[in-house]
Amino acid sequence: MQHLNLASGTSFFKSPEQASAAAMAVLQERENFYNAAEGTEELRNAVAGKYKNEGMAIEADQVLITSGSKSALHTLFSVLLQEGDEVVIPTPAWFGFHELVKYSKGSLVTIPTSFADQYSLKPEALRAVLHGKSRILLLTNPANPTGRIYKKEELEAILAAASEFPDLYIICDEIYDYITYSRPFTSILSCQGPQERCLIVNGFSKSFAMTSWRVGYVVGAREIIEKCIAYQFGTLSGISPILQAGALATLQHRSTILATFLPVLEENRLAAIEAMAQIPHVTFFQPEGAYYLFPDFSHFLGTQTSAGKKIYSAIDLCKYLEQDYSLTLSPGDYFGAPGHARMSFAIEPAELQEAIKRLKQALAELEADHL
Ligand code: PMP
Repeated sequence: MQHLNLASGTSFFKSPEQASAAAMAVLQERENFYNAAEGTEELRNAVAGKYKNEGMAIEADQVLITSGSKSALHTLFSVLLQEGDEVVIPTPAWFGFHELVKYSKGSLVTIPTSFADQYSLKPEALRAVLHGKSRILLLTNPANPTGRIYKKEELEAILAAASEFPDLYIICDEIYDYITYSRPFTSILSCQGPQERCLIVNGFSKSFAMTSWRVGYVVGAREIIEKCIAYQFGTLSGISPILQAGALATLQHRSTILATFLPVLEENRLAAIEAMAQIPHVTFFQPEGAYYLFPDFSHFLGTQTSAGKKIYSAIDLCKYLEQDYSLTLSPGDYFGAPGHARMSFAIEPAELQEAIKRLKQALAELEADHL
């Protein structure tokens, strides 16, 4: 049986030719110098230009180029957090955040959100956990794993609650900003609120299928960006100019590149929604952005397989799918949502159909043996 992997955060697209060509050209020019820790002037300008185009007053000196958005978050956590500080994250959320907090001076506080509430983050729920030691509120928009996109009014209500806490920074991970379907995306930096304490983390891994390139960035107030530059200079140095040239090319050719990726993702999304809707007892949020479904499989907990394997958690369920159906999903437990599992639809369409067919069969086998 062919192994089908729906657990990856990498899409199945090849990185854009424009990126490879630009990177090769820099290599051939013998680019062998240390370069600026903050990033190349061209890429910082292009990132600032992207936000300016969208109506935000961002200048190049408000941009730091990082080694992927993971390192952007690591740098921000290193610069902003002191012992005893808290990082507040609504869940479900990408499991990488938990790891990043683990290696920082801060501690994690989660705010569970639910499918019943369409995964909205209520300002009252936020106010209930915020206090003087809350240093970072970390949002993801569009969200991984749910694919939810915040409305502008929601973001502004969240910012209004956050503005009552003057030592709180609001970081919005906008790495899926170009991958949207049914709702417009609003950047945190275009909202009313304490803008001097808002920061964007973004990168090229998702929108441009460049996970292996490791290029990302932070955008925000100069004072914080300067601290981040000093930290990056003292630790990583800068990001390879070869890779930055590739990233720059994707921004320059973004409409052409996205016009090839997005229709494929949209078709896969619709196909996945339709096929999943045929599976009894499974509910899921219809993603508005990113490229995942995050179904609730709770109905199947407390069952056993025909071979007698007990399924008590989504982790057990994913093990069973992997062992018996050669199908890999990512258990929701890692995202702070037990009973769920994340499935990427950024895979070959035929594999997606086959994966959902196997899932349906595997769950039907469990249904028959409900304990
Ligand atoms: N943030 C989110 C929400 C993600 O889903 C991922 C990758 N799965 C990252 C950050 C990491 O991205 P990068 O490759 O730029 O480090």
